[in-house]
Amino acid sequence: MSNSGSVPDRNALTATLRDYVEQLREEGLEGLPAGVRVAREAPHIETPPTPRAEAPAPISSSPEPRPAPAAAEMFSKYPGLEKTSTLEELRAFIGDCQRCKLAPLRKNLVFGVGNPNAELMFIGEGPGADEDLKGEPFVGRAGQLLTDIIERGMALTRSDVYICNVIKCRPPENRNPEADEVAACEPFMLRQIEIVKPKVIVGLGTFAVQAVLKVKTPISKLRGRWHEVRGIRMMPTFHPAYLLRNPGDKRLVWADVQEVMKVLGIPIPRRSGA
Ligand code: SF4
Repeated sequence: MSNSGSVPDRNALTATLRDYVEQLREEGLEGLPAGVRVAREAPHIETPPTPRAEAPAPISSSPEPRPAPAAAEMFSKYPGLEKTSTLEELRAFIGDCQRCKLAPLRKNLVFGVGNPNAELMFIGEGPGADEDLKGEPFVGRAGQLLTDIIERGMALTRSDVYICNVIKCRPPENRNPEADEVAACEPFMLRQIEIVKPKVIVGLGTFAVQAVLKVKTPISKLRGRWHEVRGIRMMPTFHPAYLLRNPGDKRLVWADVQEVMKVLGIPIPRRSGA
């Protein structure tokens, strides 16, 4: 007498059922038994591909979240800062700032430019030589690339968005800002965020993103996913200066920019690149 329910057949059937149960769980069906992983060579039930969601990706938490200092704590450093309600008032409050050791080294304090009611805010690290000379953020070659992203990629203008840096004075030799310099200057950047109240922030480069999110995670792991800063969505991406050295990664920045465009309701051209 032949055995129609051989051991291999039963194993295959069990694996198929387990795959099916796991799939149902992933699709959100509740009350299913705990899943057991099965070998990939097990038979697989074909299902139609899930259509790609057009909605922007949800906000994810940072891999090493550290709470940002509370507003009161930040602003207690500079009494009166919390009372500034416009960018002009904030700029006047900062004045001829001597609050950290970068002050005597600068040619110009680089405050920020753009639309004070912008829905989109770009935050970079700090001024370079060109910015120090002109007193404006993101000028020079890297600045031109950011302008291309804004104008050619997003069909906006620089005056539609707001652009600033974490620190307002140029560190010597373009070195990274030091912790005491960031601590001295970041209340101004946080107040800029609170005054402009953008819908979306794009963090440009490792340093800016790490400073804003208070994490040590590399930008390559932070980019491409939404984070949150004081209730505002933030998309980290590579700094334009990095893209000048690594043009092959422009496609990654373009992918990040497209996520931003979805949230802002900006039509995405079928074939375009910054
Ligand atoms: S970097 Fe900021 S805190 Fe330091 S002097 Fe410039 S504006 Fe003031």
